[in-house]
Amino acid sequence: MSSELSRTGRIRTADVAFALPLRREFTYLVPDDWPGRLSPGLRVQAPLGRKNSIGVVVACATVAAPVRDLKSLIRPVDADRRAPADVLKLARWVADYYHCAQGEVLAAAMGPVVAEAEEYVRLCRPDWDTGRPGGRRPTAAESAVLRALRTTRPTAMGRLRKVIGAKARIEPVVRELVRRGLVASEWRSDPPPIPRRAVVYGLAAATDGPVPDQLRARLSSTAIGTQAPTLLDLAETTPGGMPALRGLLLSGALHWDPAGQPGPDVLIDGVRPEPAENDLDPEQKTAAATIGEWLAAPEFTTALLWGPTGSGKTAVYCAAIRRAWALGRRALYLVPEIGLATQLIHRLRLTLGEPIAVWHSGLSALERYWMARLIAAGRYRLVVGARSAVFAPMPDLGLIIVDEEHAETYKQSQPAPRYNARDVAVVRARLNRAVCVLGSATPSTESYHNAASGKYHLLRLSARIGGRPLPTVRLVDLRERADSPDERWLTKELRTALTETLSAGRKAIVFLNRRGHSTLVACRHCGYTERCPACGLTLTYHARDRRFRCHLCTHVQPARSICPSCGGSDFVFRGVGTQKIEDLLAALPAPVRLARLDADVAARRGAAESILAGFAGREYNLLVGTQMVTKGLDVADVGLVGVIWADQQMAFPDFRAEEKTFQLLTQVAGRAGRGGDASATSRVLVQTFHPDHELIGLAAAQDAEQFFTRELPRRRELHYPPFTRLILLRFAAPTSEEAAATASRFAEFWQRATADHPLPATRLLGPAPAAVPRRAATHLYHVLIKTTHVARVSAVIAGFEDEEATFLRRHHADLTVDVDPTDFM
Ligand code: ADP
Ligand code: ZN
Repeated sequence: MSSELSRTGRIRTADVAFALPLRREFTYLVPDDWPGRLSPGLRVQAPLGRKNSIGVVVACATVAAPVRDLKSLIRPVDADRRAPADVLKLARWVADYYHCAQGEVLAAAMGPVVAEAEEYVRLCRPDWDTGRPGGRRPTAAESAVLRALRTTRPTAMGRLRKVIGAKARIEPVVRELVRRGLVASEWRSDPPPIPRRAVVYGLAAATDGPVPDQLRARLSSTAIGTQAPTLLDLAETTPGGMPALRGLLLSGALHWDPAGQPGPDVLIDGVRPEPAENDLDPEQKTAAATIGEWLAAPEFTTALLWGPTGSGKTAVYCAAIRRAWALGRRALYLVPEIGLATQLIHRLRLTLGEPIAVWHSGLSALERYWMARLIAAGRYRLVVGARSAVFAPMPDLGLIIVDEEHAETYKQSQPAPRYNARDVAVVRARLNRAVCVLGSATPSTESYHNAASGKYHLLRLSARIGGRPLPTVRLVDLRERADSPDERWLTKELRTALTETLSAGRKAIVFLNRRGHSTLVACRHCGYTERCPACGLTLTYHARDRRFRCHLCTHVQPARSICPSCGGSDFVFRGVGTQKIEDLLAALPAPVRLARLDADVAARRGAAESILAGFAGREYNLLVGTQMVTKGLDVADVGLVGVIWADQQMAFPDFRAEEKTFQLLTQVAGRAGRGGDASATSRVLVQTFHPDHELIGLAAAQDAEQFFTRELPRRRELHYPPFTRLILLRFAAPTSEEAAATASRFAEFWQRATADHPLPATRLLGPAPAAVPRRAATHLYHVLIKTTHVARVSAVIAGFEDEEATFLRRHHADLTVDVDPTDFM
């Protein structure tokens, strides 16, 4: 069909990025009669191959016709939401740096599709003008459409079709009417349903409109300490029920939270607000004021806020958030794991006194949709979330806080985009001329190095609040013990300390970074051990459900009472996991109220939350768990922290193994002696097989400076980050031969590609079988590249992917690229 644009010889095009591992965009023709606005950030449906796929428009252009072989866009997916400009730019950066598709990043940023767009038409000029040049009488179909659209109210095309009921297609008829200016059309989305778990916690300040009295009364009686009502609760008592309520929510008359978080006035036990800026300690004040100056400038800055556990970093964040707000800017607050941040969120609500958006990947598609919409509309001035929140569509972003910046959970290893939210946060801050604050008691070696070399600013808090001493740490030698095999894991020293602490009415935490019961079960007669049929690893016995589980893949099998190899029925249960420790602890001669927190327990929604709340309150006095217990737990009166096996992680094939051990031990020790009675001393008992190891000594002394002094030269010498970057290529195939063949193929390609133009400071290691070479039905080979030129290496990899696509396909092989990997298994 001809139109103004093509008649003038120009056409509109749009570049679309799809959520497929294709590192390129596709150009489409924008139909002349595309109703409404089309701009970057809009999600659209477009033909790709033989299917229609959903992608995001990343660029629009007007070009000289003719352009051959362009397919047309079909329709928008959701007409009301767009990825904001800074998120589009960020997605471009993430795709380039992490060697993935921009569409994959945008899909992660925007979440699943829930809204549908439909074309709406309305009458704008009622009379058919036969006097116009080229005038003619309307056809019967045209008259029918005009009659059906009698009012100016927009009508969905689907509805119009029903009203007319004719067999003929009405689209061409409507197009013609639009062209003649009688009818206007646009894409619109009906808002999808509001999640039923959504809570409503108050009237918007400006509301004096038509809020029913019952509702007004109900919301004003939502007193402190009670749960805000869910949408379902309210619908029963609100005149007009759910439809009326929905109208009020959409009009902005009510404060509501799509993810069911209670309002700011709802308290949980033992949560106190952070002190106001005036009541901060001098170091905290300096940190807050410095951040305030950068915000006011405004000037892109990244700062490392480094202070021991309990030094009051949260109070500094709160002061910084208030300063950003005062300048009319918004803040984003990233946490390593949202399930463990409940306490923190309540603290922030109470301190800041207004609703906060809580954004994480556990939200349902609908919750995500509404959260994004409210955030984009500027309803929240603070978003707290796990790593994907770094893409939240926040307007006027001025401040990004990355709490516990060293946490490994900021890195997404699987699936793509394999990004590190901490590093992406810095880039997002740069795009917005914002301030990025990375906080930690145990900074990553990378961030420490950046601060030491002047790339980041350093803000230092040197002591715990109130002069509370860091707990004393004692090492307990695990070697050659006389105790029984099981009691070897819970030594006499630790048992005594636990008994004393609990008997004195204080609390204790026991830490072991391994779940399950026994890691080695063997037949006493023939030595048969249970192995995963998929990966070949020994299985871990889980006593609670009497099953064997593989901790690498998902394989589960019931325990057997007869050895399949010799028919024997006597098994030894060696090795240790949190469940075995739990059993040993339950038998302590002390008043034990015990809870376990690990991934098995936390699999139930809300379980981690209620265990942490129970431990913060009076329900439990003893908590045993994996690294989940080391993160951000702020409980007063923890008199003892016991570490079952300090060096467990040190033998891992990972250049960060020692750093992680140091961080873990420092963090877990930091849970002791917070709040409560400042004079009561707290202790930490660390059981280890290597009491003489320098690193264990440094961890016991919690001497981070000394740790970095030892670590940095080692990293420099071995060419590890922060002195180079790593890129891990994983070649996965159904057989080991195919995986090896494709990895070697890459190595040969690399040789050729770099022979004439060697990349400076770059080396390739491998190919080699992965540390665990088989996972379920997949065999893995690795190639590791160390380089200071990520973009150039990325280009070589892209060349391989292009040239050898057929080879990869023929060998059923799959290549994934992980830039700045943290998982080397
Ligand atoms: P971090 O995050 O550095 O480990 P927190 O922010 O959890 O430490 O602070 C520890 C405790 O000290 C919190 O309960 C906090 O409210 C309190 N606190 C922080 N700053 C001050 C201050 N200036 N005066 C008194 N208490 C403070
Ligand atoms: Zn397995």
